[in-house]
Amino acid sequence: MIRDFIYSKATTVKEALDLIEKHKDDYKIICGGQSLLILMRQGLVAPENLIDIKKVKELSYIDFDSKNGLKIGATTIHREIEKSKIIKKHYPILVYMEENLASDQTRNWGTIGGNLCHGDPTGDPGPMFLALDASVKMANKKRERTIPLEEFFVDYFETALEEGELLLEVQIPVILPKTSVVYEKFNIIKNDQGIVSVAALITADKGGKCKNARIVLGGVASTPLRVKKAEQMLIGEKLSDGLLDKIGLKASKLADPVSDIHASEEYRKHLVNVLTKRMVKKAWEQAKASAR
Ligand SMILES: Cc1cc2nc3c(=O)[nH]c(=O)nc-3n(C[C@H](O)[C@H](O)[C@H](O)COP(=O)(O)OP(=O)(O)OC[C@H]3O[C@@H](n4cnc5c(N)ncnc54)[C@H](O)[C@@H]3O)c2cc1C
Repeated sequence: MIRDFIYSKATTVKEALDLIEKHKDDYKIICGGQSLLILMRQGLVAPENLIDIKKVKELSYIDFDSKNGLKIGATTIHREIEKSKIIKKHYPILVYMEENLASDQTRNWGTIGGNLCHGDPTGDPGPMFLALDASVKMANKKRERTIPLEEFFVDYFETALEEGELLLEVQIPVILPKTSVVYEKFNIIKNDQGIVSVAALITADKGGKCKNARIVLGGVASTPLRVKKAEQMLIGEKLSDGLLDKIGLKASKLADPVSDIHASEEYRKHLVNVLTKRMVKKAWEQAKASAR
């Protein structure tokens, strides 16, 4: 049962920050409620004040320019990302990610800001945005700051948001030429949270060698996990089955999953091995083809 709370609604960022200041002793932000309401129903979260930012329209936008890349406002719903023509053109992998994230109903109501702030290591946007080298912009009454997304995820369901801060925007740089970005999750129920997910970005040089690599795992640690030691093994190398085997094995060694009702630790490590090899191969072949 959900405990009683006082409900306030903001329609601007200023109003939201004022309400946060007013209720700073005991409050929770709610946007789509797709994740928060579950925790409230389970009695895991019981705020005295609920501050609704769903109607803060100034945070609902998708902007792109070829110099600074993509900016997505925090209250943008998943569905808008999925259906955005700009995103389809410049970041098609995000459309694929969204098409496989939750149900139509959840995508129609849940927001990208809510997803990131929930801090669930099995979420899809976390690994995907980390592979794309995203940053996040936040603000409280006193200041605005932007940090790499890599610093945003702190622990299970814990983020770098400080007291009084609101997530405003996700920023994703332009994808460089000769680069491919891929993503895959393994799940038991279609369109549900993944058991394990892998995002990979590969940039190839003209000779077919790997110039840049980012590999991020989901669902195998307390936060999305960038496996830098596996990435380093790729730089300056050409793709071979032997190298792919080593990369898959390295990624699975770096993963630190738990066993739960969905999958054992060993099975998750096995999935990391298989998916990492699959994603690196796919990204590399696509990047190489575009480098010709
Ligand atoms: C049935 C179901 C299936 C799902 N499947 C998937 C899936 O496959 N993949 C996946 O990634 N996710 C999945 N989700 C989770 C869902 O996508 C997101 O977590 C959800 O969209 C969160 O957005 P929201 O606006 O509903 O956030 P809310 O539930 O309103 O808030 C979530 C958290 O973020 C905080 N918050 C929200 N906005 C802000 C802000 N701007 N600034 C500061 N704090 C903020 C809240 O205080 C709360 O702690 C699923 C959810 C459901 C119910």
